Amino acid sequence: TSYPPAPSKHYQSITPPYAHLLSQLEQVRSILNRPLSLAEKIVYSHLVNVEEGLAGGDPIRGEKHLKLRPDRVALQDASAQMAILQFSTCGRDRTAVPVSIHCDHLISAYEGAEADLKRSIMSNKEVFDFLESASKKYGIEFWGPGSGIIHQIVLENYSAPGLLMLGCDSHTPNAGGLGSIAIGVGGADAVDAMTATPWELKAPKLIGVELKGELSGWCSAKDVILEVVGRLSVRGGTGSIIEYYGEGVERMGATGLATIANMGAEMGATTSTFPYSDNMRRYLHATNRGPVADEADRAHAAGFLSPDKGCEYDQHITIDLTTLEPKLNGPFTPDLSTPLSQFGKLVQEKGWKDELSAALIGSCTNSSYEDMTRAASIARQAKAKGLSVKSEFMVTPGSELINATIERDGVKADLEAVGGQVLANACGPCIGQWERSEKKGEENAILTSFNRNFKARNDGNRLTMNFLASPDIVTAMAFSGKLSFDPRHDELIGADGKPFKFDPPTGEKLPASGFTAGNTSYLPEPVPEPVPSTPLAISPTSTRLELLQPFEPHFSPEAFADPNAKLEFDDLRCLLRIRGKCTTDEISAAGKWLKYKGHLSNLAENTLIGATNDETERVNSAIDFSTGEEGTIPEVAKAYKARGQPWMIVTDHNYGEGSAREHASLQPRFLNCKVILARSFARIHRTNLTKQGVLPLTFANDADYSLVSAGDVVSTSGLDALLRGDLDADVDVVVRKADGKEVTIKTTHGLSRDQVEWIREGSALNLIKRKAAE
Ligand code: SF4
Repeated sequence: TSYPPAPSKHYQSITPPYAHLLSQLEQVRSILNRPLSLAEKIVYSHLVNVEEGLAGGDPIRGEKHLKLRPDRVALQDASAQMAILQFSTCGRDRTAVPVSIHCDHLISAYEGAEADLKRSIMSNKEVFDFLESASKKYGIEFWGPGSGIIHQIVLENYSAPGLLMLGCDSHTPNAGGLGSIAIGVGGADAVDAMTATPWELKAPKLIGVELKGELSGWCSAKDVILEVVGRLSVRGGTGSIIEYYGEGVERMGATGLATIANMGAEMGATTSTFPYSDNMRRYLHATNRGPVADEADRAHAAGFLSPDKGCEYDQHITIDLTTLEPKLNGPFTPDLSTPLSQFGKLVQEKGWKDELSAALIGSCTNSSYEDMTRAASIARQAKAKGLSVKSEFMVTPGSELINATIERDGVKADLEAVGGQVLANACGPCIGQWERSEKKGEENAILTSFNRNFKARNDGNRLTMNFLASPDIVTAMAFSGKLSFDPRHDELIGADGKPFKFDPPTGEKLPASGFTAGNTSYLPEPVPEPVPSTPLAISPTSTRLELLQPFEPHFSPEAFADPNAKLEFDDLRCLLRIRGKCTTDEISAAGKWLKYKGHLSNLAENTLIGATNDETERVNSAIDFSTGEEGTIPEVAKAYKARGQPWMIVTDHNYGEGSAREHASLQPRFLNCKVILARSFARIHRTNLTKQGVLPLTFANDADYSLVSAGDVVSTSGLDALLRGDLDADVDVVVRKADGKEVTIKTTHGLSRDQVEWIREGSALNLIKRKAAE
């Protein structure tokens, strides 16, 4: 367990602290005294305090809240804005762990790589400038526009076996292809890691997936995950880590494993991971990380990077790769999985037009060297027969490393020779940044090797049916232009008029002559020293960026110091009672609002615009009780804020379900909301609210929901005891009706000690800031 020092600052920053993790693992073993899975080893060895975290032993999975210390953070350009703005309020001049920022989501696809990049840089310049200035100020590695997609770059540069990483993007688990635990989170959680604040995670359950046999022919890693998503469904991974093992894992390349880990997000899984393998070692060497591989070898020999024999999973499935068939998943949901042999029949049964309008390969999910060489092997066969693609065919390289290497090796030329268009190294059509002039408002089918296929995700057209498949299948089908084409059996007619059939694709896991970096100006300075004097580049007239002001604490330090002062919320105005489903989309809409992700005042204009007023049955409608006038919800909330009137809302079941979108908790707090009283909350949103200092209370009795109406004046009773440390204190809500009558409503809070502290301070960030100043 003794390790030589890392050869340089750079390697040190990208190597997990194996010596420390191994000594933590020994403590974990002595407390649990049972075989451990790989995920348990990695997660529990990252506990801030193993003894405290695992006190009492099992059951842990699905029960205990773990306080963890992540090793690294990655941010993408859209979510990084609020993460950095929040970090900037914490009073720190450097990040506690290495952080990287990646400019990828804001680049749209229209004419081709060069022109698209130029145009996108111009239209998003202020955002990129801001992120670059923040990177300089706080010592963050900055990957500018054109360098590639966050997850591909992380895999090529930062992921490592046994690492615990947080990323502000739902496909962060892609890094699991190299045996790390990589979890997608919101900005406030990233700030925890960036400020060395323990990061809390409910101990995930475990799903074990055994991969037997070996892939062959037309089957690739993508088909494995399309099969798993089909079996487990879009909710099947919730609260769980998916841990793969078996001979199939050994045989697949690290990038194939990354494809599988990437799409664990489609099942709501916390993340996915794999035991350390020879192929991972080879990938680390090929990407210039030999020293990391050497250290991983030693950690592996010490029993860290693979599961113990006899470890148990909460759920288990087996997949035989030898008999696996290629799949097409969709439309509109990734778990609707159809074997390729049945797809033609499905097209007929559904009455869909048997036409493929566009074929897209690449993205963070499937743009490895192996993916590209396999696709090119199909393109070469077609070219030899004088064929070119019948549908639009687009390729998004995941990084400049891939782009430059496939260019050098003639792979790009093979794809272009048959009509392929290679786009910028960025997200592009995967995230709707596809300015598609064809098929507007028309039902049509596209095939992609991406990961998501919700309505309108790619081209904004809700009638575009997006089917997910491997890059091999997508490429082959582009030559037929038909959905019913099965390249394994069906023939095409070559330019010579003779029928021809594709041979199965072939590819190379890694380039024989190594990777080439391409445009090295994209490479950031490794482990840059912070330059605290750098101003954050935010123009005072910007409509897209705005410095975040820390939220005012609800009570003064003097009030806390005075035992006779009552720490209660008094005279809150009930803004409205919300009926039915109210997801994070209803609370903070996406679409055109996305461009304001770094400007809270402008984004707050969309607060709750999708919510239904239970009393008027109208969407986005509230009454201002000072004027008696009806307005939109944000209008009335803003008017209350302007008058210094704090407010609360009453909501129905599962308030805040959907995503971890933190703006949905920031916005109400920004507009002076103090309490949300719900029939129930979605778990992540409830945590997000407490992080921003909003008190989430749940009705003890569901039926009391209708006892509070818009305009009522609401106070708390019992909050004082809770804030002064009595976690068992009951918090009641006292409601004064318009006729002066009072009703007292019982609630539950279920807050942890940390969460109470966040509310006491006015927000988790205020607490971090105070601690930094101490
Ligand atoms: Fe997300 Fe698509 Fe970009 Fe991947 S390529 S990070 S899935 S938007």
